[in-house]
Amino acid sequence: MFDVEKLLKGERRSLAKAITLVESSRPEDSDKAQKLLEKILPHSGKSIRLGITGVPGVGKSTFIESFGQYLIKQGHKVAVLAIDPSSPISGGSILGDKTRMEALSQEENAFIRPSPSLGFLGGVAQKTRESILLCEAAGFDYILVETVGVGQSEFEVADMVDFFLVLMLPNAGDELQGIKKGILELADAVVINKADGDALSQAMQTFAQYTSALELLRHNPHWKTRVLKCSALEKKNIDTIYQLIEEYKNSTKATGHFEQKRFSQNQEWFKKLTGELLEKKIQQNKKLSVARDELELKVLRGEMLPLRAAYEYIDLILKLLSKNQNEND
Ligand code: GDP
Repeated sequence: MFDVEKLLKGERRSLAKAITLVESSRPEDSDKAQKLLEKILPHSGKSIRLGITGVPGVGKSTFIESFGQYLIKQGHKVAVLAIDPSSPISGGSILGDKTRMEALSQEENAFIRPSPSLGFLGGVAQKTRESILLCEAAGFDYILVETVGVGQSEFEVADMVDFFLVLMLPNAGDELQGIKKGILELADAVVINKADGDALSQAMQTFAQYTSALELLRHNPHWKTRVLKCSALEKKNIDTIYQLIEEYKNSTKATGHFEQKRFSQNQEWFKKLTGELLEKKIQQNKKLSVARDELELKVLRGEMLPLRAAYEYIDLILKLLSKNQNEND
C-alpha cells in the first residue's frame, strides 16, 4: 500500500516512488496509480506550472539550474520534470545523457525527475501531467516542465502549463528560421539566453527582431508576450524573469484567465483521453477491429464512401453497446 501521508509531507523518496507507480506500464499498477491520483487530487493545483523549451545547446539546463536556485531563495519548492521524446526514437536521449543541474539537485527544496521513457509521446505527456499533480500534492509550488523541440513535444508541454517560456540563442537569423510554426504564438515569454560577453550585441539585435516579429502575431487578449534577455551562466536578469512570471500570475488570476486556462486544459485532456481509451477498447474488441478493417478496405477500393462507412461503423459500435447494456440489466 502506498503511504499517501509521506507524499503529502513532501518526502522526496515517496514522491519519486509515486511517479514511478504512475509511469509504470504494468496493468496491475494502473489501478493503484489511479487510486493514488484520486486521493491526492484535492491537494494538487497550488503551483505555477512553467514550460521551458529551446533547441539543444540553448542553455535549458543551465537556465533551470540558475532559475531553480533563485526560486528556492525566494522561498519556493521547485520540481523539474522533463519530456524527452528523443529517447524512444533514437534509443538515446537528448536531455538525459549528460550530468545536468548538479547544484540544483543537491538543494533540499528541489526535486528533479528525468523524462519517462515510454514508447510514444502521447503516453509521456499523459504521465507528465499526472506527475505534475503528484509534485503539487508534495508541496512543490513551482513546477518546471522542460522539453526539447522534437516532434509535438513543445505543443504538448504548452498544453499542460500556465506559462510557456521559449529560450533562444542570440543569433537571430538562424533562429527565426529554426522555430517551428506556431511556437511563438504559444510563448508567454521569449528569452534570449547567453546575452553576455561577445554575444551581447548580437543578443540586442535578436531582441529587436523578436520584439517586432511578435508585434505581427495574433495577440492573446489576456497577456502580451514579452521578449527578455538573460545570461543563465552569469545569472543575469534571472530576477526579471521571475518578476514577469509573478506579474502574469497576479494579472491572470485577477481576471480569472488563470483558472479558465487550466479548466480548458483539463477539458482538452479529458477529450483526448476519451478518444485514446475508446481507440484502445476498439482495438481490443475483435468484432469491431475486424469490421473496421473491412470498411477501410471498401473505402480504399472506392466501393464505399467514407461517410457511409463511418455511419455503418458507429451503428455497429452502438449495437454492441446496447447489447452489453441489455446483458448487464
Ligand atoms: P541545453 O542543451 O539547452 O540544456 O543547454 P546547456 O544548459 O547544456 O548549455 C549548453 C552550453 O551553453 C553549455 O556549455 C553552457 O555552459 C552554455 N551556456 C548556457 N547558458 C549560457 C549563458 O547564459 N551564457 C553563455 N555564455 N553560455 C551558456
